[in-house]
Amino acid sequence: MQIPHADERIDNFIGGVRLAPATGQYEPCVNPADVRDVLGLFSRSGAADVKAAVDAAVAAFPAWAATPGPERGRVLLRAHRLLEGRLDVLSEALCREEGKILSEARGEVKKGLNLLEFYAGQGFRMQGRTLPSESRATLSFTLRQPIGPVALITPWNFPFAIPVWKTAPALIAGCSVVLKPASLTPNLTHMLAQALDEAGLPPGVLNVITGPGGSMGDALVDDPRLRAISFTGSNEVGLRLYSRAASRGARVTCELGGKNPVVVLDDADLDLAVEGIVQGAYGSTGTFVAGRATQAAAENLAEVMRAFASAATKTNPEACTPGIAPRLTEALVARVRALKVGDGRNPGVEMGPAVDRSQLKTDLSAIAAAKDEGARLLAGGEQLQGGEYAQGFYVAPTLFDHVGPGTRLAREEVFGPVLALQAARDAAEATRLANATEFG
Ligand code: NAP
Repeated sequence: MQIPHADERIDNFIGGVRLAPATGQYEPCVNPADVRDVLGLFSRSGAADVKAAVDAAVAAFPAWAATPGPERGRVLLRAHRLLEGRLDVLSEALCREEGKILSEARGEVKKGLNLLEFYAGQGFRMQGRTLPSESRATLSFTLRQPIGPVALITPWNFPFAIPVWKTAPALIAGCSVVLKPASLTPNLTHMLAQALDEAGLPPGVLNVITGPGGSMGDALVDDPRLRAISFTGSNEVGLRLYSRAASRGARVTCELGGKNPVVVLDDADLDLAVEGIVQGAYGSTGTFVAGRATQAAAENLAEVMRAFASAATKTNPEACTPGIAPRLTEALVARVRALKVGDGRNPGVEMGPAVDRSQLKTDLSAIAAAKDEGARLLAGGEQLQGGEYAQGFYVAPTLFDHVGPGTRLAREEVFGPVLALQAARDAAEATRLANATEFG
């Protein structure tokens, strides 16, 4: 398996074969660390291509649904083994396609492989349940059956793991699939499809089409033959898609945006807290949306300035320690200013570029708005240009404190390396601040 060269055309994968888009159009996949590095030209599909992909998925569904679960699982397992042998090339492709650093790319590929292996095993576990019936003449039981052909729509920030974590469960359940990756990151999805094809997945069970979601998305979402849609991406697109598909009775799952907090209390291990916050806020250039405090995303950090945890503290505030805020701030400033930004393929680099010019603009606009709204800039705050940054979309890792609770930076997702520090009097206030976003 090779990474495509700059002028190589990558057609859609429909019905087990490569099909040129009916539009006749292609668009380049560009390395955001260096725009001179082009990783192939990908089909810019339209509604006719969506229809062809759905036709193929519909035709392939009955036989795949009737294939025993363990047999389906063995196809996934063979694909897993093939992909495991391609770890290096997948990681390099991911790093060059999305911009995250090589070690993060490798971690993401391994995560995808683990998911594939897990779901392969699920082929043996398609259990239903028997239930006690009120009637002597009735046997009550549940049976797992594939819902039908499904559409899977994925974002750019995890271009291997997310396509795997949608495709593998759908396939193992016996569904056929139309998979549409983000336009910025189509490569890894094709590499996944190629491995499944080589592993013996029947033609038409997995179909990959690339192209602009904004113009071809409706054809996918509205096709009544697609019984379910799984979407990961922005709230704006997801909520629109949700109401549109649900109104025709399709099942829809949406994983949308977030604004994740870390709460650091006075008795925290400072070094561990700083590392967790830095990984969460600047990992994958600020798009590493993990969930919880120990190793978590931290776009919205609430810190506690007083000891709070005992009754003595509550009744006698003067006995409190000064709090962790100044030490945490100082340690974070030092760590964030020292982060090495650059092309993720280079050793020592800790953070790559924004994924494209548009995301770079979003990051810079969030920084400008934070300054306007009175936040204090402690690190970064600018685009990195010239020299090693001349050909990419680089923004400095950015840290603000004095971030007011009602401000944009406190409430809105940036999806870039911009961290907001907020101070709280106690754990209750920290929790209230943490929840004070539309994301809850
Ligand atoms: P996005 O703009 O919503 O795009 C996501 C996917 O939807 C892409 O494949 C996109 O295609 C497609 N799309 C766009 N418009 C569409 C339409 N009208 N109908 C159907 N599909 C359409 O999101 P993104 O910028 O790629 O990803 C960033 C967002 O994803 C962030 O908000 C982030 O929080 C969220 N996210 C959430 C999770 C989670 O687990 N909750 C994980 C990762 C990311 P194009 O690429 O062609 O536009």
